[in-house]
Amino acid sequence: MNCSEADVLINALLDGELDAGHASDVEAHVASCHDCADKLASLRAVRVAMASAGLKEMAPAALRDRIERALPAASASPAGAPASIARRAAPWRLNRRVFAGGFAVGTALSAAVAATLLVAVVRDDRDQKIASEVVSAHLRSLQPGHLTDVETSDQHTVKPWFNGKLDVAPPVIDLTAEGFTLIGGRLDDIDGETAAALVYRRRHHVINLFVARHPGGEHARGGSEIHHGFNVRHWTDGGLDFWAVSDINAGELDEFCKKFTAAAHPAPSS
Ligand SMILES: [Zn+2]
Repeated sequence: MNCSEADVLINALLDGELDAGHASDVEAHVASCHDCADKLASLRAVRVAMASAGLKEMAPAALRDRIERALPAASASPAGAPASIARRAAPWRLNRRVFAGGFAVGTALSAAVAATLLVAVVRDDRDQKIASEVVSAHLRSLQPGHLTDVETSDQHTVKPWFNGKLDVAPPVIDLTAEGFTLIGGRLDDIDGETAAALVYRRRHHVINLFVARHPGGEHARGGSEIHHGFNVRHWTDGGLDFWAVSDINAGELDEFCKKFTAAAHPAPSS
């Protein structure tokens, strides 16, 4: 493992999100590398400082009252349970709704309260599952020797390389001039389907762009989120699903997605 690979994984290590194999790879690298050991130590120090800084803020009691009043006492109550029990149970139910990532908003919650509490979890289970899979695939790709099956910055080499390997033809776009260097492509597996992975580099950060056939139906919503410390973007275009994942900051990943889609749809020359 080299420094840029370790750099990507150190945050996940601190968050306890690496499997044993990845964790011991990172630890082995840190044990033999001063720079990465320094980085890990300072991140740990920041963590300790944040934890002891008392930054947690409780929601005001009035908000809790408002939410409890808005929850339907009858349906929140197990059959036959007194209303007072239902009222006491209500905050737990709300927490579960928020943190499970589901979107089963009680009809009695006002839209305003719902918007406040459920921001960024407006997505279905399939989105969650795939976001988790693309992050895993991204982490796998950062292992030595796993990043590319075809390594070249030439889009005219990468695009035909996918011929016959996929039932779709992913658009392969060189964004070197825009600050995102194409470094190759590979086949990957997302949601049980073979997907194209286009690999870009921004400074020492890797961006994986996964492209697969859109399954059809109504599932055409885009989205963005932070998943296990990685930024993930999803959009659908021309019957294809696109998932971009990287540890670059959200603004730069948005820029990448914008430049990619703009280049995929060049304005007709007049
Ligand atoms: Zn290092």
